[in-house]
Amino acid sequence: MRLAHHISPLLLALLAGPLSAVAQDAAPAQRPEVAAAAQKLQQPVVEWRRDFHAHPELSNREERTSAKVAEHLRALGLAPRTGIAHHGVVAIIKGGKPGPKVALRADMDALPVTEQTSLPFASKATTTFNGQQTGVMHACGHDAHTAILLGVADALVAMQGELPGEVMLVFQPSEEGAPGKEEGGASLMLKEGLFKDFKPDAMFGLHVFSSVQAGRIAVRGGPLMAASDRFNITVTGRQTHGSAPWNGIDPIVASADLVSTAQSIVSRRTNISKLPAVVTFGAIHGGIRYNIIPDSVEMVGTIRTFDEDMRQDIFADLKNVAQHVAAAHGATAEANVPDQVGNPVTSNDPALTARMLPSLQAVVGADNVYEPPLQMGAEDFAYYAKEVPSMFFFVGSTSKGIDPATAPSNHSPKFVLDESSLDIGLRAMLQVTLDYLDSAAQT
Ligand SMILES: [Zn+2]
Ligand SMILES: [Zn+2]
Repeated sequence: MRLAHHISPLLLALLAGPLSAVAQDAAPAQRPEVAAAAQKLQQPVVEWRRDFHAHPELSNREERTSAKVAEHLRALGLAPRTGIAHHGVVAIIKGGKPGPKVALRADMDALPVTEQTSLPFASKATTTFNGQQTGVMHACGHDAHTAILLGVADALVAMQGELPGEVMLVFQPSEEGAPGKEEGGASLMLKEGLFKDFKPDAMFGLHVFSSVQAGRIAVRGGPLMAASDRFNITVTGRQTHGSAPWNGIDPIVASADLVSTAQSIVSRRTNISKLPAVVTFGAIHGGIRYNIIPDSVEMVGTIRTFDEDMRQDIFADLKNVAQHVAAAHGATAEANVPDQVGNPVTSNDPALTARMLPSLQAVVGADNVYEPPLQMGAEDFAYYAKEVPSMFFFVGSTSKGIDPATAPSNHSPKFVLDESSLDIGLRAMLQVTLDYLDSAAQT
């Protein structure tokens, strides 16, 4: 990588000619029909997104959003199925020519976040969540995803007669996770038979992302986003007076030891040269008064992994640590690791990703498509990617001039989306879909 320092400027100048010519040859062109559709749809997509942004709804409560989506799809002449996994909407566009089946996904839900932007269409919505009064905000940018997919629907319907194959549009509720004991999201859509009558040959999804500069797209083959699993551990001792710990069993000291020892699961027992992993304790609750040793302590946390074996090993290790460290203190531990099944690893099909890379490059230029680091965040698109070859990619949403490293991130009350990402998302999704259908139809 440092070789350039040793090459003379003349040689560099000579190399620059043929090299840039090669790069230009390799960079495919954006389809004219994509450019035309994007121009026509730019304004409507911005308006739809602003409308969704001003009217956010929490996971499994996307009533208005899904009604709007269904209304738009019906206006295009499609026959959407509604009420899938509560508020999911699915429509199929049957092309006029034979070809493969593709599914495109947009998520529709918002978050219990009180918006702190000065946007004219900022959300004023409030609700009660987990017993607390809170604002509701599209702080993850799913408003953009929904608007983009509506734009894609419009463009594909306009070229339906020429389309080689079929496209299923999946407007998915509850990506952020269903409240309480409810089910929801991608896993519930699949459980309710999303792929029963329409098994896609490939599936695509996108996410607007503050860590990526507007105008750029980030994608990688293989693991992209982590599996996310929650755990809950209760350490039980025996309550006694704080002045006489020998009369009881102290679950606070046992818990402190447990939290410390658990740090060695990733640092000493996991092969992090292969893939990273995280074990985080997010809350510890125990005790009520300075001079009472409590009966028990409850801890909750999250585990992030990129590999199924590693995931299972860390579950086993954490259970082991909890039980044995507690036992060393004379206490007991009930370790629910995980306490509910979390999202699996979001893995992009390597061959599909390599094949679709030129399509993304055609939209933003080869220099603006890059491989991002592994993301410790999770995404329930993972469930689709387990079923069919899939590609999930990030569309930059942080305006030029603002450092993506310090810009308010997705889920922040100050998350602001550069609206150029709507246009890029629309063009990228269209180009990928059309290129896939065309090339697959020819093989
Ligand atoms: Zn999110
Ligand atoms: Zn999201």
